[in-house]
Amino acid sequence: MTVKKDKVVEMHCTLKNDKGEVIDSTEGRETMVFLQGHSNIVPGLEKSIEGMKVGESNDVVVQSKEAYGDYHAEGVQTIPMKALEGIDKLTVGLELQSQDEQGNPFIVRVKEINEDTIVVDANHPLAGETLHFSVSIESIREATKEELEHGHIHAHGGSCSH
Ligand code: ZN
Repeated sequence: MTVKKDKVVEMHCTLKNDKGEVIDSTEGRETMVFLQGHSNIVPGLEKSIEGMKVGESNDVVVQSKEAYGDYHAEGVQTIPMKALEGIDKLTVGLELQSQDEQGNPFIVRVKEINEDTIVVDANHPLAGETLHFSVSIESIREATKEELEHGHIHAHGGSCSH
């Protein structure tokens, strides 16, 4: 069996940025399990592992376009501190919910804390980054009918509430 659409893939994965810093890794932890071909992982990674076999390892480079997209400078905004009443502990990296002009909620991350203002960033933390994945395929199985209908796996054999 090889990795392809509608298969449930279990793999170990280490993610590094361009500088070679480890951003995330499953090493020594639980493997990553997902339904291939349903955008459960970034598109570039999904494409790169297509056709791999159990026991195979690979190093994959994914451009930002095929991962978390470009970095948009207009996603960075400075907000007066007094607009943030009710938030006790502001820390860099904290996620806040903001609203666009239509009132749609979106998440921003605190980037900088100054005396009277804070700088927030609506970009994904990995936007604009080229991602370097090292993957090894641990197992591949058929998805259940229910998993295919939902477009994601049901890890512990149970069903989920949607
Ligand atoms: Zn489900």
